[in-house]
Order: sequence, then C-alpha cells, then structure tokens
Amino acid sequence: MTAKTYELRTFGCQMNVHDSERMAGLLEDAGYVRAPEGADGADVVVFNTCAVRENADNRLYGNLGQLAPRKAARPGMQIAVGGCLAQKDRDTIVKKAPWVDVVFGTHNVGKLPVLLERARVRREAQVEIAESLEAFPSTLPTRRESAYAAWVSVSVGCNNTCTFCIVPQLRGKEKDRKAGDVLAEIEALVAEGVIEITLLGQNVNAYGSDIGDREAFGKLLRACGRIEGLERVRFTSPHPRDFTDDVIAAMAETPNVMPQLHMPLQSGSSRVLKDMRRSYRQERFLKIIENVRAAMPRAAISTDIIVGFPGETEEDFQETLHVVREARFAQAFTFQYSKRPGTPAAEMDGQIPKAVVQERYERLVALQEEISWAENRAQVGRTLEVLVAEGEGRKDEATRRLSGRAADNRLVHFARPEEPVRPGDMVSVKVTYAAPHHLLAEGPALAVRRTRAGDAWEARTAAPAPSGVMLGLPTVGAPAARPAAQGDGCRVC
Ligand code: SF4
Repeated sequence: MTAKTYELRTFGCQMNVHDSERMAGLLEDAGYVRAPEGADGADVVVFNTCAVRENADNRLYGNLGQLAPRKAARPGMQIAVGGCLAQKDRDTIVKKAPWVDVVFGTHNVGKLPVLLERARVRREAQVEIAESLEAFPSTLPTRRESAYAAWVSVSVGCNNTCTFCIVPQLRGKEKDRKAGDVLAEIEALVAEGVIEITLLGQNVNAYGSDIGDREAFGKLLRACGRIEGLERVRFTSPHPRDFTDDVIAAMAETPNVMPQLHMPLQSGSSRVLKDMRRSYRQERFLKIIENVRAAMPRAAISTDIIVGFPGETEEDFQETLHVVREARFAQAFTFQYSKRPGTPAAEMDGQIPKAVVQERYERLVALQEEISWAENRAQVGRTLEVLVAEGEGRKDEATRRLSGRAADNRLVHFARPEEPVRPGDMVSVKVTYAAPHHLLAEGPALAVRRTRAGDAWEARTAAPAPSGVMLGLPTVGAPAARPAAQGDGCRVC
C-alpha cells in the first residue's frame, strides 16, 4: 500500500516553525511521507496557524476556502488546523469551514495522528483543544529541517502580560524543561552532526522561574559551552526584564555562545512601555546594551519595534528614535501596530490613525537602514568564518555565490570556493562590500573547513558533492537563528 502524503503550511514565529518540525515527525512516525515540494495533491494538509496578526483568521479561511474544491474532488483527503488560531477559535473553525477534519491546539500537538485517524474512522470532524500542556513537546518525534542547525526548546508559554500580545492566553504560563533534558537533547543532536543550536523560549531568559533560580539561563549557556562538538549557540528571544549581568557574563565567557543578541525593544518611550506592560524602561534597556557591548564589543544586536501603539505621541516616537540612535542595532524588525482581538491593547483609547503610523514607520525604517548600513560597512576588510547555509544561496545561483551566517548572525554572500563545500561546512572569507542587510566577500575563500555537519548533510541528502557546492533541501526556514520577520504585528518574544 502506498504511504499517505502530508503537507505542512506554517505561519508565524520560530515556535511554530519548531512545532511544525514536531508535527512532521509525528506524521512520519505514523507512516505518512512528506508530499514532494510544489505537489498539489497531499493526502493530508496541516495548517500550523498564528493568531498574532490582525487578519490571521481571514488568511486561514481564505486558504481553507481554496482547498474546499480540492477536497470535494478527492474523497479521503484530510485537512487539519493547529497552532495558536486553532487554540483561540476552537470549534468556530469547523462551523466556518465544515470540510475541516481536525482542529487541535498548542498544548496537544502530539494528538495529531490520532485525531486524523479518529476523524477518518468516525467520518466526522474532531475538535480537541487541551487547556494545559499534556507533555513537554520536546518529547515528541521531530523531523528536523536542517542537518547542521537545530532549535531546542527550553520553555513554553510566558508569565508576562504584555498588552499587545495574545501569546500567554494561547500558550499558557511558562513551563521550563529540566536542564538535563535540554542538554541531553543537544548532545543527541550533536551526535547526529548538528553544530549550531538555538535555544528557544517565548521568554527564553526567564528560564528557571519555575524553580526560582534567576541564574538558571546563564548556567544553561555555560553548560552548552561544555558540549564537545557544539560550535555555535544562540538563543531567542530574551526579555530585557530578565536580562541579568550573569547572562551577559555567561555569553562573554562561553566561547561557543555567539556574539549576537536579539532583544525586543518594542518602544523607546518609558510611558508607552508602561502601557504595553513591559516591565523595563528606556534607561534599563540602554544599560543592558551598554553592558553587552562592554563585555562583547563585536556583538551584533537586533531588535523588534512596534510603531503606533495606542496613545503613542510624536514625543514618544522621538524617544524610540533616540534609543535606535543610541543602541545602533545591526538590524531591527519594525512593525506597525495592528489590533489583535482578545488583547487589552485592542480596547485601549488613543488608537493611532493609519496615516500617522505609516509616516512614523517610514521615518523609523529610514533611520534604521542608515544605521544597519553603517554598522555593516564597519565589517568591510574583516575576515569572518561563515557557516554555509542551505537554501539561502539558491537566490544567488546566477552569480555562483554561496551564502551563510557569520558568528554574529550577519548574512554573508561569498564567492564559491574552488573546493567542494556543503551546507554545514565553514568557510573563512574577507568582507569586501557591505549592503544594509548583507555582506559580500568577492575574493577567494581564505579557508574551507569541512565539518561533521557537512557530512551529516551529505548523508541526509544521499548525494555526493560533484564539485563546487551542493545546495538545497527545501527548508521551512533554516534554523540559523535568523528572525522570521512578518509584515505587520510583532514577532513576539
Ligand atoms: S510579548 Fe513576549 S514577553 Fe510579552 S506576553 Fe508576549 S510572549 Fe510574553
């Protein structure tokens, strides 16, 4: 009997990308195989949804509507909807789209194959939403998208109550994994060839709050530093409130923790931060930046900023511009505030007219572009070791360049080396040109280091390198700790 095929459509943040890896692992464990890229006829289509954006539901129902005729023409096809929007909308989804077979939430991802089977046998839609986590999702089978880099969850949920954010309602209170379990997972990944991991949590540096250990995250970083063969450690996203000096010291003193920090600012105005219920103020944020730079002068710092939060005045916005000038972010993910139903901010007075938000947004983007470009120009002439990425280089196939990430997570395009290199290998290059969002190294590679990760990539693709490079497993966003920017809203911590 031919195995049933599945297709996964992922929306939203890194949490969802990693959850989708688990959904893929569960489905493959149950005997499904991934439908070929671009194929139009998977037996099961799973939507892993995001509720952060204002129009998320319109997008979902639009997608579901497009699938309705396909399903009608193909008895036996199934559609499942999971993720944050499913957790929020529950059986509304099958009321609005009765051709959906399964709705499952953020706390019971592990039920997906069982619910699909039950819907098939009973010939009726199955809606099952758990109110709290049934098992830590990292115990579920996972189909990793990359052979060389992996996400590793340290916690799920969030104890904060930012007024623009719906995550705490949908992902629940923070639950931390045991450090031993996190480290065991990393060691197992390294044994399989992974050389870069990104520790993942909605509020990653609050790790340890379960047991009241404020230094648990710093200890975890230091423990990662003792794992032999693990070359790069990143984490996302920290909250300024929990960013202790101990974490900065752990970053600076642990050689495999990369000189990179993505720390959401959201607003530079202390008054707006108070309305956002973000428990730090402008001075505290800038002090953290100062301390990080003192400990790691070459660190690249990126951020998220929301423009036009309810009640934001021109003076408040000027405070944001001030922080951007002071902090000199390598990159900022800038978002126009949009109402998210179910959040306190959606009901606040002082919603800002769209035209005002747009105009402020453009000024912010122009300033940040200038800074990003200047910060990148400071890299010209430097020698960087770049982890060769899969996928990213394909864009530049015409010029025969490859791409990868430097230690500080900057995107580097570089001339294809003479000798064969594979995704996961390391190439040392000299930067010759800087653009606002990438660096270019046009000269010959200074060194190529073939890695276990490259071997693992080659084994996974089961295709030997002919010459030059092999590019290309399709990816859901190669986990190189690059922030997944969205069009509007917030990436959410
Ligand atoms: S924005 Fe981040 S810290 Fe705030 S509630 Fe949402 S997930 Fe938690």
